[in-house]
Amino acid sequence: MNNEFMPNFLLKRAFLTPKRTAIYFHDETLTFQELYDRAYDTAGKLQKLSLRKDQYVGVLLKTHLDTVIILFALQLLGVKAVILNNRLTPTELTWQLTDSKAAFLITETAFSNMGLPKQIIKEELFAVEKEIPVIQEEISLSEVCTIMYTSGTTGNPKGVMQTYGNHWWSAVGSALNLGINDHDCWLCAVPLFHISGYSILMRSVIYGMPIVLHESFHVEKTLKDLTEKKVTIMSVVTTTLTRIVDHLKEESLPNHFRCMLLGGGPAPLPLLEKCVEKNIPVFQSYGMTETASQIVTLSPEYSLSKLGSAGKPLFPAQIKIELEDGQAASKGKPGEIVVKGPNVTKGYLFRPEVTREKIHDGWLYTGDIGYLDDEGFLFVLDRRSDLIISGGENIYPAELEAVLLAHPDIVDAGVTGMEDAKWGHVPAAFIVKKEGSTLSEEELVQFCLDRLAKYKVPKGFYFTKSLPRNAAKKLLRRKLWEWIKEGSDKE
Ligand code: ATP
Ligand code: MG
Repeated sequence: MNNEFMPNFLLKRAFLTPKRTAIYFHDETLTFQELYDRAYDTAGKLQKLSLRKDQYVGVLLKTHLDTVIILFALQLLGVKAVILNNRLTPTELTWQLTDSKAAFLITETAFSNMGLPKQIIKEELFAVEKEIPVIQEEISLSEVCTIMYTSGTTGNPKGVMQTYGNHWWSAVGSALNLGINDHDCWLCAVPLFHISGYSILMRSVIYGMPIVLHESFHVEKTLKDLTEKKVTIMSVVTTTLTRIVDHLKEESLPNHFRCMLLGGGPAPLPLLEKCVEKNIPVFQSYGMTETASQIVTLSPEYSLSKLGSAGKPLFPAQIKIELEDGQAASKGKPGEIVVKGPNVTKGYLFRPEVTREKIHDGWLYTGDIGYLDDEGFLFVLDRRSDLIISGGENIYPAELEAVLLAHPDIVDAGVTGMEDAKWGHVPAAFIVKKEGSTLSEEELVQFCLDRLAKYKVPKGFYFTKSLPRNAAKKLLRRKLWEWIKEGSDKE
């Protein structure tokens, strides 16, 4: 097929609008031409150190302007970046580097003493004498651009192959939904090693849109830049949006601001209600590493009428709900969420069996349970693997956790199943209380009975100091029992 080729994204962008601002980082501002030139120089240095097209190369860096330059340098060389989460332990990092057969690891001094193999330290890389790099002026949409490992919430992380086409269609699908305005500017305060952050880089070059890059989320800095840099769109997760909402007292967001793109996990209803109250335009979304960012999005006009829904699939994407027997679920009936679209991965790196198991005819079986309402809006319930079946009834831990988290004395909550002679399984709740709270099990049972059907009320309550979470800060329900037994909760 010859129609699957496109010009290298950054090369094309620097040609089309060289003088437009590409990125603001602290006091530095780079145009697309300057970004290209810096990426080109870095590509020359990386080539000098023997990086070559089609190699897999690990990237373990902080969110920083240098990281953006290195990531684009790798695209210019046609090297496949294995982008690693910098909160992982050395054992987890070594596992991902081995699993992806990484030829090198580009990292920085801060991470250089973990004993990881084949390191190229950023600070030393920039001092290398460059050579003239062989630039991939044309890319194939089916070619792998990046590898990102899933968060490992349900099991071992898997390397997801994200092609240039996946990134392209993800950016296009988002634009067809949110629109692109001339003065758009996207604030990135999410990690570049997640698809949430990396996808902002891709939108920037594809749309010709400036981004404001923050090393990490900081609420005051965010609000300052929303005004001063005239930011119009920002990607957030529940915790960051909560901090913004809590910080805004009387004042509202600037008029030019048009979208908080919320992703990464379920959104608590009280938070969404507060956003409606404070006039914060939230686009809720559903997506995963495998879909190169959002695949389903809810516009703010539906925030109230479809409260809690993740929305409708983006223009290029399709969605269906499948029952255990492979039949399509009728409207309102829960089943596995299955998605398809040009932004969906072609599979897991070096795992043909898992790929065959999860992807059929381009349809990706997400392992998430949800339903579509009469109008085709998606409601995500939970992960299939976490479902508790009690006396034949399905219980979704996420629903119970949301109820518990609404209690003013509860800081964190996790729910999982426990064996029960009568019902097969029943829910058990693990709770982190606010400091000094005297909340008792009896009070909690009553609180739940007021809000949940009786069979859903947890049969066991365990108070702990913290809950097991992975490097993406996601709750590891499969580890809750171990956590209590090993006494890790006491630390
Ligand atoms: P692993 O696949 O290794 O278990 P993971 O699924 O947590 O890890 P990610 O790709 O980072 O890895 O997360 C995607 C998952 O996050 C989705 O499959 C879904 O379970 C959850 N998620 C994303 N958006 C939403 C949402 N709007 N509502 C509920 N859950 C969501
Ligand atoms: Mg997953």
